[in-house]
Amino acid sequence: MKSTLPQNTIHFCPKCGSNEFTFHEDQSFLCDKCQFHLYINSSAAVAALIINDKDEILLTKRAVNPHKGMLDLPGGFVDIMETAENALIREIKEELNLDIDKFDYFMSSPNEYIFGGLSVFTLDLAYICTVKNFNNMHAKDDISEFRFCKLSDLVFENICTGSISKIIQTFVNKKGEQ
Ligand SMILES: [Zn+2]
Repeated sequence: MKSTLPQNTIHFCPKCGSNEFTFHEDQSFLCDKCQFHLYINSSAAVAALIINDKDEILLTKRAVNPHKGMLDLPGGFVDIMETAENALIREIKEELNLDIDKFDYFMSSPNEYIFGGLSVFTLDLAYICTVKNFNNMHAKDDISEFRFCKLSDLVFENICTGSISKIIQTFVNKKGEQ
């Protein structure tokens, strides 16, 4: 079994510090000493599908691990007590200095993201976004560069995660049906 899974990584109760912290089949830990119950759930993340007027998709290159140097969709984690919509607007501004004009929910896709040796499970929420203009766009924050890529030229082996690949593939397939 994978060493990064929570049951192989987390050994102590975060409430009382006991090592009698047992993982159960329902993806939760139960402390046998203080009865603290910790469920492992998905963290929410957002991803933006942004297409220019040449029908090219906007991809970013990751500047940080995991998957440093690989291609990604713009986006990131939803902060605590933040809406997905706000996270989308905030992340696109932070990463690319772009202002989203309109957005529509597209699909969700589950993902496993290994960070600091621990599997962090996410649910990636994808939105189709339009932006007013690309004039002031530049790469910053946790991306090193961006590029527009023709949908027919996409190389899915260069996309950072299976989840993001699936979102883009579904989008390409739906566009092909139109
Ligand atoms: Zn405990």
